[in-house]
Amino acid sequence: MAKKELKFNSKTIHGGQRPDKAYGAVMPPIYQTSTYAQSTPGGHQGFEYSRSGNPTRTALENSLASIENGQYGLAFASGLSAMDAVIKLLNPGDEVISTNDLYGGSYRLFRQVFEKYGIVFHFIGMQDMAAIEEKINKNTKLVWVETPTNPMMNVVDIKAVSALAKKHDLLLAIDNTFATPYLQQPLDLGADIVMHSATKYLGGHSDVVVGALIVNDKELADKLYFIQNASGAVCGPMDSFLTLRGIKTLHVRMQRHNENGEIIAKYLNDHPKIEKVYWPGFEDHPDHDIAKSQMNGFGGMISFIPKGGTFEAAVKIVEKLEVFTLAESLGGVESLAGHPASMTHASIPKEEREKSGVVDALIRLSVGIEDVDDLIADLGQAIG
Ligand SMILES: *Cc1c(COP(=O)(O)O)cnc(C)c1O
Repeated sequence: MAKKELKFNSKTIHGGQRPDKAYGAVMPPIYQTSTYAQSTPGGHQGFEYSRSGNPTRTALENSLASIENGQYGLAFASGLSAMDAVIKLLNPGDEVISTNDLYGGSYRLFRQVFEKYGIVFHFIGMQDMAAIEEKINKNTKLVWVETPTNPMMNVVDIKAVSALAKKHDLLLAIDNTFATPYLQQPLDLGADIVMHSATKYLGGHSDVVVGALIVNDKELADKLYFIQNASGAVCGPMDSFLTLRGIKTLHVRMQRHNENGEIIAKYLNDHPKIEKVYWPGFEDHPDHDIAKSQMNGFGGMISFIPKGGTFEAAVKIVEKLEVFTLAESLGGVESLAGHPASMTHASIPKEEREKSGVVDALIRLSVGIEDVDDLIADLGQAIG
């Protein structure tokens, strides 16, 4: 059977993969080499230098393309270096429209690295298509969407934004880190570029920092490959191997992340000491209908505000957690808790942050795949 016809839960394991040519190794060997012998100048077997290409990275890139229903995958040294490559498609004077409650590092890259090269960024809520259209002018080239957003769990209607982007001839890029292709496949919904911090769910074991881009258009893929090779922020062979290994269990991990996430979101929502829970699976979540139509589940990312809503109350809870680890990052098998205002979103000015709801008392959970009873007991003792 052609691998293209496989279902998602098989593509994670087999998509774009074949046994290694040398000895039939089922997992691609970690080709820990910088260069490759040539029989005559230019006479190589497809690889010349590992910035330009490495067989272990190629195996990962083929897997990435397969699980996102794309033609081309590119693996980078980090999620941010993948984003960096996308912004390098642009020229001074070009404008980008982006979601406002963006991952802090993405915001920092846009504002503190690329603005000084003359690229203009607009940050807006993307619930209202008219508000997006208002920001479009002749210089607009790219729409950058994160959905669900981090950490407020807003959901953006990818099909609707894609229609707008096509109407105005703009590129549409989706940061699919939170949802993963298990929950949402943006290329099928009309996006041009899918980006991942594979550090999170794709790797899934909190042991690598890796980024990815997936596209369908050959010309766009060539441009991004040129930048990847010219700028050089490539994913190394060991990290490629680990990420590929992670992807093979993505579907079973995501199933459990979803189940645990739902149980914990409901537990917190019913808890008398909790003020507000942000999770797109609730029917009264403002974007629930869009989430339901474009996602195959609601994931394990949950944000909440304890009653009383102070910085101190939030810090006290995250310090008391024992099964949840207080740490940056998300998407691993282990449950993590974070305090966005002082951790992931500290690089966003307080005023800017609070406008999108990232208040001092907000706590963000990445619900792992442990026994959910242990997670609930832990939250119970920490909330008190
Ligand atoms: C972590 C993260 C990034 C940045 O990725 P790195 O791998 O840390 O460079 C970008 N977007 C989102 C949504 C993230 O969670």
